[in-house]
Amino acid sequence: MSPASRPRLAVIHTGGTIASRPDPGGAGLTPQQRPQLADLRTHSGELAAVDDLQPFNLPSPHITPAHMEVLRRLTEEQAAAGACGVVLTHGTDTLEETAFYLHLTLQTPVGVVLTGSMRHAAQASADGPGNLEDAAQVALHPGTRGRGPLVVFGGEIYDARTVTKVHTTAVDAFGGYPGPIGRIDHGPHGAALHYFARPERRPVYRPAHVNARVEILYAYAGWRGEGYAEAAARADGLVIAALGTGNLSAELLPLIGATRQPVIIATRTHAGPVLPVYGYPGGGATLLRAGAIPASFLNAHKARILLIVLLGMGLGRNEIAGVFGGGAF
Ligand code: ASP
Repeated sequence: MSPASRPRLAVIHTGGTIASRPDPGGAGLTPQQRPQLADLRTHSGELAAVDDLQPFNLPSPHITPAHMEVLRRLTEEQAAAGACGVVLTHGTDTLEETAFYLHLTLQTPVGVVLTGSMRHAAQASADGPGNLEDAAQVALHPGTRGRGPLVVFGGEIYDARTVTKVHTTAVDAFGGYPGPIGRIDHGPHGAALHYFARPERRPVYRPAHVNARVEILYAYAGWRGEGYAEAAARADGLVIAALGTGNLSAELLPLIGATRQPVIIATRTHAGPVLPVYGYPGGGATLLRAGAIPASFLNAHKARILLIVLLGMGLGRNEIAGVFGGGAF
């Protein structure tokens, strides 16, 4: 097969541990290189052509929504230019936020897969090469088309909407309720890909900007709203990682009631919905009556990404409540 007719994979490198090595001066790990794919054969045995791109090379704690929007544009450009699949390598710390931003905004049927690594490239047990190979196979597989952006890590395939980082150091660093939607393994005849579920269809959002300032407040036993007024004074919207099904202490009720910006109630609990059921002051039902918006199943940092997108489209409080309440994400 001539190079021109080979299936083309675009790999967009952004940094993270998968691109890191120990700094020669002893300062710790820093992104320094691009992870490289060895010869890549698709599931049907064709040799793929790989194009590497690197819009930036950052540790993922330095990634902002503006970087995510750059990745959205670049991914769509690559798909429009004929790529059969797109892989994004990314630091694991904020990988789920970028994945969710792409889930909300990306418009392409092409397979798009994010991956990273927990161990750096100079370690004997580096997991980057395997994750990258898996991500490439998944992105190019015809069964991936139309599923929206996915995360591949440790052989598991995750929906961008539900995936979350669950361990700070383990190689199986990703999980999230209700778990993977597929798996990739390596059998005697190459990659064996199995899907168990299809991500929900969702609308594609096109924010005019991603500059909305949305802050997250984290609830704890005894929190009486310290820091709330300061955050509300400067933010365009707030997300609270609240307790259990979305409850807070009584002191938060009047504060939320007096806030004109959207206030989203997520939960600091690792799985399950926000359900406004409790009627004591500060209980979820009272917060809802005071105007707070439940985040459904989204964790606080994904609820923040959705709110940034919706504010960037100029939506008002009621429309925002409709998106969160209707599960349109
Ligand atoms: N620990 C992170 C990683 O896995 C660092 C980062 O997110 O850039 O890549």
